[in-house]
Amino acid sequence: MRRLLDALHDPADLADAVRDPRVSLSRHELLGRAAALARELDGARTVAVHATPGVETVVAITAALLAGVKAVPVPPDAGELERAHLLRDSGAELMLSDDPGAGGTIVPITRKRPPGDVPAEPGPDTAALVLYTSGTTGPPKGVVLSRAALAADLDALAEVWQWTADDTLVHGLPLFHVHGLVLGVLGPLRLGSRLAHTGRPTPQMYAATRGTMYFGVPTVWSRICAAPAQARELRSARLLVSGSAPLPVPVFDDLRALTGQAPIERYGMTETLITVSTRADGERRPGHVGLPVPGVETRLIDEAGGIGHLQVRGPTLFDGYLNQPPREDGWYTTGDVATIGPDGWHRIVGRASTDLIKTGGYRVGAGEVEDALLLHPAVREAAVVGIPHPDLGEQITAYVVADSVRGEELTAFVAERLAVHKRPRVVHLVGELPRNAMGKVQKAVLKHG
Ligand code: ATP
Ligand code: MG
Repeated sequence: MRRLLDALHDPADLADAVRDPRVSLSRHELLGRAAALARELDGARTVAVHATPGVETVVAITAALLAGVKAVPVPPDAGELERAHLLRDSGAELMLSDDPGAGGTIVPITRKRPPGDVPAEPGPDTAALVLYTSGTTGPPKGVVLSRAALAADLDALAEVWQWTADDTLVHGLPLFHVHGLVLGVLGPLRLGSRLAHTGRPTPQMYAATRGTMYFGVPTVWSRICAAPAQARELRSARLLVSGSAPLPVPVFDDLRALTGQAPIERYGMTETLITVSTRADGERRPGHVGLPVPGVETRLIDEAGGIGHLQVRGPTLFDGYLNQPPREDGWYTTGDVATIGPDGWHRIVGRASTDLIKTGGYRVGAGEVEDALLLHPAVREAAVVGIPHPDLGEQITAYVVADSVRGEELTAFVAERLAVHKRPRVVHLVGELPRNAMGKVQKAVLKHG
């Protein structure tokens, strides 16, 4: 098997291989700095990385991977308790940081040493990263990912997105989750494309940074659509890619209208990496995430009314949760509910725990009700949950961010478009929805208060 960071070892140098608004490194400069730092990690097994959004984090993660040390990225805005928990839970012996105030036993990333030899990367089965889940449904879980799983996923995406060394990837996502770190950093270092990290994922920064591929979570795309002049700057891009949460159909449509490009949608989770996606050379269908990527199989179990629990199998799955027994081989239950059409196309209905509402003997996907609400011109954001109800089992309840509209008007609006049992019985108009760092709505907060 090839090394995980295959393209990083290419003897040809590449100018601007990784850059952020302050720093730019060529491929050889990155390799030299990471190799020097890797030698400081001798003897460690797990290192935390204070994951500020930019080049220094790329250097630190690369160093850990070269040294064969498990890297645990820690959110730079983590509070004291969260940081202490991640350090204790992961057993990290050191913290790599460009911010000496971060706490713990610190090795500064910027310490200068002559590069010397580049350490040999370890074999494919060695754990490479411990990534914490987004904490949407409960406390974040530490997910152990092998080099083989990371490599398999990136190679599958290279094929599906026709991602090559000719690309320049632009994004400003956090560097402590799969989206920003695995796809957004390890992708370019394996596949040889350039990476321009914008520091923050704002419409202004995306518009000002030329690239061929842009990554964003749905809130990033929705903000870009709200800034049409900036959105139009993305017309020359090859691919706009959305994931981590459902992309509302109106955002899909606006993005297509403003940029001339229908976005690529892909689905995955920390535990499985990216398993389903639309293709660069294929159809893009609003509300749908496409087909399994090469090497991955999917199926639905406990299907009723076309909606079932999504399971996945393949080479991209995690080893297990940290400090827990290893995962058993075979089908993995994602915890998401989905439909799979006769043509194999997947639609993610939502999470089994919060988005599959059981009401009056029916199963209703929250996403379908949210899509109907979003068609109303006054509605900007919508989140639908089932609230326990003595008669119905659960009652469909909507939380809506909207410009001057009454709840009853929205109920009537949905009733015209969906079966009667699918309309929200209660509509709460709110100033904003509770979201986490990846822009995901924290439905458990809505459901349980
Ligand atoms: P936690 O597991 O801690 O509750 P989380 O599940 O949000 O948090 P991640 O692993 O970052 O943590 O996110 C994976 C989840 O994100 C998936 O299970 C799915 O619910 C959602 N998701 C990812 N991509 C998409 C997408 N394209 N459309 C809809 N949902 C998506
Ligand atoms: Mg999860």
